[in-house]
Formats: sequence, C-alpha cells, structure tokens
Amino acid sequence: MSFATPPSDSSPLSQLVRQQRAFFNSQGTKAISFRIQQLKQLKRVIIEHQDAILEAAKADLGRPAFEAYFEIATITEINGAIRQVKQWAKPQRVKSSIDQFPSTAWIQPEPLGVVLIIGPWNYPFQLIMSPLVGAIAAGNCAILKPSEYAPHTSSVLARLIPLAFDPSYIALVEGDVTVSQALLQEKFDHIFFTGSPKVGRLVMEAAAQYLTPVTLELGGKSPCIVEPDSHLGYAAKRIAWGKLINAGQSCIAPDYLLVHHHIKSQFIELLKESIHTFYGSTPHTSPDYGRIVSQSHLHRLSQYLGQGRVIVGGEFDPDTRYFAPTLMDEIGWDDPIMEEEIFGPILPILGYDELKTAIAQINLRPKPLALYFFSSDRQKQSLVVSSTSSGGVCINDTVIHIAVNQLPFGGVGESGMGAYHGKASFDCFSHFKSVLKRSFWLDLNWRYAPYTTQKVQQIKQIVTR
Ligand code: NAD
Repeated sequence: MSFATPPSDSSPLSQLVRQQRAFFNSQGTKAISFRIQQLKQLKRVIIEHQDAILEAAKADLGRPAFEAYFEIATITEINGAIRQVKQWAKPQRVKSSIDQFPSTAWIQPEPLGVVLIIGPWNYPFQLIMSPLVGAIAAGNCAILKPSEYAPHTSSVLARLIPLAFDPSYIALVEGDVTVSQALLQEKFDHIFFTGSPKVGRLVMEAAAQYLTPVTLELGGKSPCIVEPDSHLGYAAKRIAWGKLINAGQSCIAPDYLLVHHHIKSQFIELLKESIHTFYGSTPHTSPDYGRIVSQSHLHRLSQYLGQGRVIVGGEFDPDTRYFAPTLMDEIGWDDPIMEEEIFGPILPILGYDELKTAIAQINLRPKPLALYFFSSDRQKQSLVVSSTSSGGVCINDTVIHIAVNQLPFGGVGESGMGAYHGKASFDCFSHFKSVLKRSFWLDLNWRYAPYTTQKVQQIKQIVTR
C-alpha cells in the first residue's frame, strides 16, 4: 500500500484507520484463539519467505546470512507468545479490603485498539515484526510503517503482510518521512516508535495532540567499561563482535570503550587480534562484514576520523558503502565523537584510573540504552549496576541481553520510554483495567448521608488506622 497525500477525513490513510477501528470495535481481535491463529499465520509467512528476507537484508545492509538471521529471530518471540498469551491475558484476582465487603476485584488486561508501529532501517524487518507480535498477542489492530532507508526490506514486508492479514486488521504503509508525518496526524490508541531521539521527540509531540501514549525505543551512547580483572581475551572478542555486527549499526552496540590504564595497550592489541580473526587483513573482501546503509551515513562517519588518532582501520569507500572496523585512541571527553551516537564501526577508546571516575563520567551524560561492564569482581559488578542508570546492563558480554525474552527491553531518560519483548510486549500493548464487582446481598448504610457523628467517627477510624 502506498500513500502520498496528507490525510483528510477521506484520505486513504484516514479510511484505513477507520476501517481498522471498525474491525476492532466488532470485537474481532479479542478472542485468544484468534490471536494465536494470527501469530501462527505470521510465523508461517516469515518461514516461507525467509530467503527473500535474507536477500533484502543483504541488499540493504550487506548483511552476511548469519547476521541476517537476527531479523528472523522474531520467531522466538512468536513462539513464546503462542505458548503464553492465554496466561498473559488472564484476569488477575486481587484482594479487596473489608471496607468493600462483599466484593471481588481483579485486573483485566484489554487491548488498546488501533496502534501505529514505526520502524528504523538498521534491523528493518525485526524492529517492525517484534513489536507487532506484542500488538497481536494483546489483541490490537496495527498499522506498520517501515523505514524508507531499507527499501528492499520495506518492499518484502509490503508483500508479506497482506499474505498474512486482512488490512482492516494489520496493514503496512510504505513511504518516506511525509508518510510518517501523515500517519502521525491520525488518532491512534498507542504509538510504538523505534528510531533516533530527535525523531522520537517529534513523535511524542504529534502524539500529544490526542494524548496518545507512546513507547519510544531510542538510541544513545552505550558505554563499555573494562577492568583489569576481566578475562581480557574473551572481553576483546565479545566487544569487537558487539561493535561490528551490522557494521556497528546496532542501537545497543558498545558506543565507546573505557579501559583501565593498566591494561589499555594490551587490550587494544587483543581487540586488533579479534578484528583480524573475524574479518582477516582485508575486511572489505570479507563475506562476514556488513555495509553502511547510505552514502550520507558513510560521510557522517568519515567526519569522526579527524579527531584523536586512528589506530586500526579508518578506510572507507563511498561507492561500496564500506567503512573499515576502526579503533580510535587519544579521544577526549569533549570531542564531538563523544557527543553523538556513533552508529557505525568506529570504537573510541578512553583510559581511566579508577572505576569510580569512569562511573562518574557516565553519570554526567544522558542515560544510555545499554551499559557493558567487564570484570570478575562481584562487588564491582554490583557497584556498577547500582550506581548507574541505563535501559539495560550486560555484565561480561555485549548485545546478547537483547535476546533474553524474559528481560524487558527498552531505554530510560533520553534512550527511551517503555519496554517490550516477551510478556513486556503484551503489557506494552495492553491496558490493565481495574474491575471491582459488588453484590446485592448486603448494603451497609455507614457511607450514606446523613453523616451522623458516629459515622464520622467510623470513617476517621477507617482512614487513620
Ligand atoms: P530515524 O529516527 O531517522 O527514523 C525512524 C523512523 O522514523 C523511520 O521509519 C522514518 O521514516 C521515520 N521518520 C523520520 N523522520 C521523521 C519525522 N520527521 N517525522 C515522523 N517520522 C519520521 O531513525 P533511523 O535512522 O532509522 O534509526 C537509527 C536510530 O534508531 C538510532 O538512534 C538507533 O540507536 C535507534 N534505534 C533504536 C533501537 C531500540 O530498540 N532502542 C533499535 C534500532 C535503532
């Protein structure tokens, strides 16, 4: 589906939202059996078209097949939702107090309605599909807007979604920023946005006109601290991997490295070794190394090379959108590379003398989406977890905490609001309605006027006990 005109009551977008609202109001999305059937349908279509999805990831981002499978990992989310949605959707009985006797009280999850999901280009399939799983499990209708900067994936999605769903239930709208803007003029019951903090602000502003709640999955600079008591060989491999998958274009890639001065030069050598082991001496010929999404992003990254000292890499080629795995030393906290999210395969390395100064530096900056800490010392691990704030923390590894579906995934402060994955996805797209049920077999008079002195005494006792 393609929409170019801004919405009016009769615009195709407004009509689509109205159609979905009518379907939602028909109660058609609410039965658990319907939700499970739709999730199974989605899984079937993804599996049947996995080759097309992998090819699109290759065309958009030069993804090696191994990394392209990350896009399809949504299937584990689907499987979890199919298994557990019945349990998640069950009303939860809570205790009501003696003052409401006789009564029963419970919390009943209900779907929000028609939701909008806007995705970025870096994991362009997964970051549309993964929130969609939560939207379906919770019983919503959804309109999906993938990123125009991953056009091959966008068109695969546009082909697959109608194979799985009727547009009055789930529809996908392709297009550029004007389409996003037109969508944001519509009234939704929730907006789930993954992208940059800059656009996140615009989304929140647009949502405010209808008081639409938002989930913002944003980015930021995720720090990575390495203490001398780590297994340095494993740490180097794990950091190089987390930084360089998808050519550094991951929202939770370690953005910059803080290494204790005592091990800094040794650790740089280990990082070099890891990069060499992964991609050889000519990473541009490696089938396992991705490409930058666009020439403008490549140009943006090349501007960072003027700061500090390049100790590995630094080569780039606009024609093939290749940017070498790059390590940079002699970076200061005030350099521009330490201000913006790098979102590419450049790793600045800074030294520190004491862990508490590294923590203090991190705490001076906006709260990151992820924080990585390498150390074998439990006390230091607890100190870092308790004295910093970030969307998530991963100790002694990078990135893979995102794959634990039992852990809610999301940011805090400037790295976002709200969370999803597993049950958290169901919660994200649900309203938890409070219900109190009374019966007719007893009706005590103590709360009704006239308010006698005795009744005032009674209420005083109840509220001050
Ligand atoms: P982006 O913010 O430029 O674009 C995201 C989406 O917003 C796209 O679909 C785009 O069409 C739309 N958009 C762009 N400008 C808009 C506007 N003015 N009004 C309305 N919609 C608009 O982000 P991106 O460049 O695609 O992705 C990179 C960013 O996303 C990075 O900051 C990264 O950290 C973040 N990210 C976060 C997560 C996460 O899970 N937290 C995951 C991936 C990426």
